[in-house]
Amino acid sequence: MFPGIPMLNYDVVVIGGGPAGMAAAARAKELGLNVLLLDENDYLGGILPQCIHPGFGLHYFREELTGPEFAARLAKRLVELGVEYRTAARVMEIRNYSDLEKVVIFTSPSGAYQAWAKAVIYAAGARERHAFEIGIVGDRVAGVYTAGEAQTLMDIYGVLPGKEIVIVGSGDVGLIMARRFALEGAKVKAVIELMPYPGGLARNVMILRDFDIPLYLSHKVVEVRGKGRVERVKVVKVDENLNEIPGSEFWIEADALIISAGLVPSVKKLTAIGVEIDPSTGGPVVNDRLETSVPGVFAAGNALLINDLVDYVAEQGELAAEGAKEFIENGGIESRKWIRVEKGENVRLLAPHRLSGERDVYLYLRVARPMEDVELRIPEVGKRVKLSLATPAEMLRVKLKAEEIRDAEKLTVEVVRE
Ligand SMILES: Cc1cc2nc3c(=O)[nH]c(=O)nc-3n(C[C@H](O)[C@H](O)[C@H](O)COP(=O)(O)OP(=O)(O)OC[C@H]3O[C@@H](n4cnc5c(N)ncnc54)[C@H](O)[C@@H]3O)c2cc1C
Repeated sequence: MFPGIPMLNYDVVVIGGGPAGMAAAARAKELGLNVLLLDENDYLGGILPQCIHPGFGLHYFREELTGPEFAARLAKRLVELGVEYRTAARVMEIRNYSDLEKVVIFTSPSGAYQAWAKAVIYAAGARERHAFEIGIVGDRVAGVYTAGEAQTLMDIYGVLPGKEIVIVGSGDVGLIMARRFALEGAKVKAVIELMPYPGGLARNVMILRDFDIPLYLSHKVVEVRGKGRVERVKVVKVDENLNEIPGSEFWIEADALIISAGLVPSVKKLTAIGVEIDPSTGGPVVNDRLETSVPGVFAAGNALLINDLVDYVAEQGELAAEGAKEFIENGGIESRKWIRVEKGENVRLLAPHRLSGERDVYLYLRVARPMEDVELRIPEVGKRVKLSLATPAEMLRVKLKAEEIRDAEKLTVEVVRE
């Protein structure tokens, strides 16, 4: 307890007002829980309000929406349900006093607060990898942005970040940004991709052809130069082991460098209370209720693992809320045993990590390398799912029924040639 800091009381506090947190808070309220939703931004929606392109909501709302539309629908649901939420409310710390006693300390324009709760749903999203993290050296110049920063500049504040742009990374975010820049009249001089294949979905890779943007596979940006502002970037070819090939360097003139080199779950506030992290997802180890290794602390959305579809993010939020309800009602999530889920051949990451076998569950996973005509197999239970294509860009989601897995000790998930 913190004397002098106003104390609030809830069943569940949801940290993060993106789609994961909004869906979690709405579901928690529907389940009869007293819930508070907190977000540090001045608005709800997380990164959705800046994603003005379509491609959201086909599974969740059975309709294709833009990011702001998706966010608005969830916000409307929150308001209709009467969910209590605060924006401009930054969570500074979570304290875990006992299984049913947690404190979320946050600051807001009206001061600091301590919100006591029986359960916490952590939906704080992800952070972007920046230039230094991917080994780019050179001058500290204006004009180097992460994709999210550039997107915020353009789609929230109406500022074009550059006129001649080089993008690092051909994942969906980099490709969608390439289209946005081109549509706004900037020249996208190149997209540079470290891997020998594009990182984004096929439909997004088409953007490069549509706008005549060169894609350099097996290349990396290593240096940026300029006086005050980016003037040129140095690119080098890499071999199959991703080592730079001497003599292959060349320069591209540009006034902006956009780094779209992947997202990393934001987990600092979880690690501070001892939550176990899976090094391959970068997010917490969770059970099939999305409960972390700290009882009563749940995770959903990009804070759990990086999702490409917002629909899965919202689904995870709802699942975490159902977990919180069960946790609060029973004083814990019970299971006779936990079935370990392990990565087999060609599986780079997966969640959840422990299954009770008592309920149906979705496994979310990404493969290590692209392959056509493959099968997802779980040999221990004879499960086989045919897939015409599996690529690291696209998260796979597979449903396991309780009766299929109930008697297993462990499950090994592999994605292999038929
Ligand atoms: C450029 C781009 C294009 C995309 N395109 C598509 C697409 O076409 N289709 C699709 O389905 N998906 C798409 N996505 C993916 C989708 O938008 C994300 O998976 C989803 O928005 C993640 O939701 P989230 O709730 O986990 O995180 P976020 O949306 O990041 O929300 C997290 C929230 O937590 C808050 N927060 C963090 N820390 C704190 C704290 N300490 N205190 C208080 N609040 C905090 C943040 O302010 C933020 O609002 C795209 C993403 C990007 C970036």
